[in-house]
Amino acid sequence: MSEKDIHQAADQSHENRGLSVPATPSPKYVLKVRRIVVPIDFSEYSVSALRYARAFAQHFGASLILLHVNEPTVFPSELGYAPIAAETLDQQLREDAHNRLKVLAAECASEGLKADAVIRVGRPFNEIVTAALEMDADMIIIATHGFTGLTHVLMGSTAERVVRHARCPVLVVRENEREFVAPA
Ligand code: ADP
Repeated sequence: MSEKDIHQAADQSHENRGLSVPATPSPKYVLKVRRIVVPIDFSEYSVSALRYARAFAQHFGASLILLHVNEPTVFPSELGYAPIAAETLDQQLREDAHNRLKVLAAECASEGLKADAVIRVGRPFNEIVTAALEMDADMIIIATHGFTGLTHVLMGSTAERVVRHARCPVLVVRENEREFVAPA
């Protein structure tokens, strides 16, 4: 089947379903995506969001900001932990996370993408939204596992808060849902 035949078949199928058929393109608007923030907590979900981000970056010639947020460890003082121990642990966690992000950034670079590894400290949703604003990001691509146990809650708390507070568009990638990213 030629490409033209494929388009004709797709148009026919749209018509059969009562959907409008796309006209010959003469775009009034174009998408300008230059910088994409990808929050990474190293879960399999965030790595799956990174697949989308890589494909978007390729498509738009955008650069990626791989962002991990270190939440400061709080040890109850009544257990006798010294604050200095928490600070040393956090320092170690930040270094480890930075190294892991740099590995992911290097993978992106091997595909010809520009990717920076960024660590911030604070509450994840707040830092994600603030970083996107400060870095002038055009979009955030974030993962969520989907249900949190409550059937009416469709997203985990970080993704939901990012959607609510972000000043740029947010693409939420839910696990085990319809996918539109595929191997090239
Ligand atoms: P889930 O319950 O699926 O983890 P959340 O909404 O709480 O749902 O978190 C979803 C996503 O938020 C993670 O996949 C990750 O992309 C991002 N995220 C969560 N915590 C952090 C963090 N500390 N640093 C960077 N990103 C994070």
